[in-house]
Amino acid sequence: MASATDARSGQKESADQNFDYMFKILIIGNSSVGKTSFLFRYADDSFTPAFVSTVGIDFKVKTIYRQDKRIKLQIWDTAGQERYRTITTAYYRGAMGFILMYDITNEESFTAVQDWSTQIKTYSWDNAQVLLVGNKCDMEDERVVSSERGRQLADHLGFEFFEASAKDNINVKQTFERLVDVICEKMSESLDTADPAVTGAKQGPQLTDQQAPPHQDCAC
Ligand code: GDP
Ligand code: MG
Repeated sequence: MASATDARSGQKESADQNFDYMFKILIIGNSSVGKTSFLFRYADDSFTPAFVSTVGIDFKVKTIYRQDKRIKLQIWDTAGQERYRTITTAYYRGAMGFILMYDITNEESFTAVQDWSTQIKTYSWDNAQVLLVGNKCDMEDERVVSSERGRQLADHLGFEFFEASAKDNINVKQTFERLVDVICEKMSESLDTADPAVTGAKQGPQLTDQQAPPHQDCAC
């Protein structure tokens, strides 16, 4: 479904240099929890009910305004790699935020959250921020993971938590915006305490990847 036109327009927007910050965000979780649908809902405001395999698209770009800052989000989809649990470490490089997703109608996807969290901690930058998202909350009748269990796991892992639906457009925008705010909060906190990973004395992954914010004072 990722046509050549999509890819070209994505490239065009990603070449736009007019922004204050750029954040690389990854959506991660078991196959078929709704990662691609979630990204399409957010970036294109569309939903395709048929199962869509993720082939030939790496990321989508969306620019948003938060607190007077123009923030360009480069949001990566897994291109189907998660099906084989073979997500390359290169995928994690430079990521400042993660949406770790499970499906509230699928116990296995919830059980796997712990493993995905370990992967994030192993391969990503220490200060990367994570939001846990229980997707498909429109399917209440088929729910097997209660909101309470989701929240408890998020608390245990130290992540914020949302239930969402890519299908009914519930909490999709809110998830991304909260993640961006958390990243901004962390950035300004790190600058306050002169964290060398952010100030550049010792470059963190987002700085080595040419994805560093052009300004270092985050007023978000
Ligand atoms: P991915 O493998 O994690 O990228 O999952 P997909 O985005 O391809 O979605 C897998 C299946 O779940 C597809 O049939 C989607 O239409 C469906 N799906 C995704 N999100 C939702 C949702 O919020 N609600 C419902 N009911 N179905 C969804
Ligand atoms: Mg997919």
